[in-house]
Amino acid sequence: MAAAVGASSGGLKKILLLERLPRLGGILNQCIHVGFGLKYFKEEMTGTEYAARYKKKVYKRNIEVKTSCFVHRITPQEVTFVCADGEFTVSARNIVMATGCRERTREMLTVPGTRPAGIFTAGLVQEMINIHGVMPGKSVVIIGSGNIGMIMARRMTLEGATVHAVLEIMDHLSGLIRNKVQCLDDFGIPLYLEHELLEIIGKDRVEAVRYRNNQTGEEKLLSCDTVLFSVGLIPEQDLLIEAGIKPGNGIYLVGNADYVHDLVDAVTREAEKLGKSMD
Ligand SMILES: Cc1cc2nc3c(=O)[nH]c(=O)nc-3n(C[C@H](O)[C@H](O)[C@H](O)COP(=O)(O)OP(=O)(O)OC[C@H]3O[C@@H](n4cnc5c(N)ncnc54)[C@H](O)[C@@H]3O)c2cc1C
Repeated sequence: MAAAVGASSGGLKKILLLERLPRLGGILNQCIHVGFGLKYFKEEMTGTEYAARYKKKVYKRNIEVKTSCFVHRITPQEVTFVCADGEFTVSARNIVMATGCRERTREMLTVPGTRPAGIFTAGLVQEMINIHGVMPGKSVVIIGSGNIGMIMARRMTLEGATVHAVLEIMDHLSGLIRNKVQCLDDFGIPLYLEHELLEIIGKDRVEAVRYRNNQTGEEKLLSCDTVLFSVGLIPEQDLLIEAGIKPGNGIYLVGNADYVHDLVDAVTREAEKLGKSMD
C-alpha cells in the first residue's frame, strides 16, 4: 500500500495493487495489540487500526486495487496472477515485491520426536485466535523468544491458556525488550535463556516437551498440549528466485520481503520513498 501511495504521489498514473487475500493490510490485520504507528502517525494504535488508516490513503488515490488475486509468476516486465475470473498477465515498467515474510517451522529446525497435533507457528496461532476465533490449546510451551511468540504468550494467557515457559536457545532475547516486559514479565511467564528443545513427545496430541538447560546440562520434561514455534522469519522472495531474477532494473523488494522489520512505521516510510523514486 505504501509503495503504491508513494508512486501515486510521485506522479505515476497507472498503478495496480495485487493482494492474494480478500482484504488489504497484510500481517497488520491479525495484530490486535497496540504498538503500531507511534513514529508514522504519531499516535499509538493497533495493527488493524494502522491498516484501516492507511487503506484510506490508498482509496483516496487513483490506485487500482485487486484483492483475492494470487501472483504466481513474474518476469522482468510482466506479472501473472490468478483470481476468480481466471489468469491474467500484465506488463509493467516497475514491479514492487512487497510480499512480506513467512515463519520458520519446526521442520526447518529438525526437532526430533513424533508429529502429533498441537504444533504450530506463533503467527499461525495469532491468525487462528484473532481472525478465526479458534483456540488451538490450553497448556502451552513457546519455542523461541521472537516478538510473535512473546505476543502470543500474552494473548493465549488472556484467552485462558497456561503458558508454562518460553525456551530460547541463545543467551539473549531475540525480540524487542518492550515485548518481554509487556507480554512475559507482566504475566509472570518465565523466559529460559540457553535452553534447548530436545524432543516433542505425544501420540495423537502433544503431551510434553523434553528440553535441556545448556548451562548446566540438566534435562527436564514439561507437560503441555501445545507447542508454538517463534524461531524466525524468512523474507518471501520465492517468485524472484524461481524466475532467476535479481532486484534491479525496475524490480524492487520492499518491507519484510526485503528484510525483516520490527516496526511497520519503517516499512511504510521505506516503501513510500521507493514508490516516489520510480518513474
Ligand atoms: C506478530 C507481529 C507483531 C508485530 N508487532 C508490531 C508492533 O507492535 N509494532 C510495529 O510497528 N510493527 C509490528 N510488527 C511488524 C509489522 O507489522 C511488519 O513489519 C509489517 O506490517 C510488514 O509489512 P509488509 O507489507 O512488508 O508485509 P505483510 O504485512 O506480510 O504483507 C505482505 C502481503 O503480501 C501478500 N502476498 C504475499 N505473496 C503474494 C502473492 N504471491 N500474490 C499476492 N499477494 C501476496 C500477503 O498476503 C500480504 O498481504 C509485528 C509483526 C508481527 C507479525
